[in-house]
Amino acid sequence: MSTEDGPGLRTTVFLKGCPLACTWCHNPESIEPRSHVEWKGVLCMGCGICAKVCPKHGITFDEDGVHTADFCEACGTCTRECPTQALELKGVNYTVDDLYATVIKDRAFWGKDGGITMSGGEATLQWEDVLAFFKKCKADGVHTALDTCGFNRRDVYEQLLPYTDIFLYDLKLFDDAEHVKYTGQSNKIIFENFEWLAGTDARIWVRTPIIPGATDTDENIKGLAGIVRDRVEKWELCSFNNLCVDKYERLGKEWDFKGKGLIAKARMEELTALAQASGSPIAFWSGATALEN
Ligand code: SF4
Ligand code: SF4
Repeated sequence: MSTEDGPGLRTTVFLKGCPLACTWCHNPESIEPRSHVEWKGVLCMGCGICAKVCPKHGITFDEDGVHTADFCEACGTCTRECPTQALELKGVNYTVDDLYATVIKDRAFWGKDGGITMSGGEATLQWEDVLAFFKKCKADGVHTALDTCGFNRRDVYEQLLPYTDIFLYDLKLFDDAEHVKYTGQSNKIIFENFEWLAGTDARIWVRTPIIPGATDTDENIKGLAGIVRDRVEKWELCSFNNLCVDKYERLGKEWDFKGKGLIAKARMEELTALAQASGSPIAFWSGATALEN
């Protein structure tokens, strides 16, 4: 959980599991729908306690460090016993009631505009629980935001709409073949759901990650501008960053964007101006940029 994303000060709940596989994903730990153990090499002193305490004998060592087996049941024994906190359990099982009781403790920090954001992974993969959670929020007057990639059945969004104060809706790539190439899925259902949602009275913030060599082309921004237009509250072009590189290393995964630097400020301004000139005056950009223009 964290306190960012969406209007006001908020608590964000990251649910695991995602139907897309964006090659630039900045939350790779949330793609897997199940809990897992992460190893932080800089904290490990090589004592071997984790391997001794694992009831499944699922921990091995080699020159690259500590590895947990696919059959790890995420029981958390090794993470509790590790003397240096080099192992961390990612993903905790909650009931809706327990999660609500945990999150509502932050209420004093939210202020009048803040509240709770359900994010991921893709929050709507567990939409029945999100719906039950949001119903509790609305019964208590808590502001709700749903961060979604738009890739789910229409009726899921129809059921969530009455309990969602704002949708944070990702639109990534206009060209369907490019969308398949970079996310593993077609954008058809995402655009169809967006068209429907934009025709309701829902508050919507659209966000587009500006990824070098993938989403940062003039054609993509022009295409998306024709879809977004001025039908939503905001359209945020989020500048690429490489802060997640450590996450990929901890997961033992390669990241296609490892060597990529930040995008120049002038290019972000150019893309924003293009979005505005292409029919979407509400576009703006955010995030870190390279010092040189
Ligand atoms: S118990 Fe912790 S410090 Fe010891 S080897 Fe395992 S991960 Fe490293
Ligand atoms: S979480 Fe449990 S099963 Fe998984 S590696 Fe650690 S001790 Fe073994």
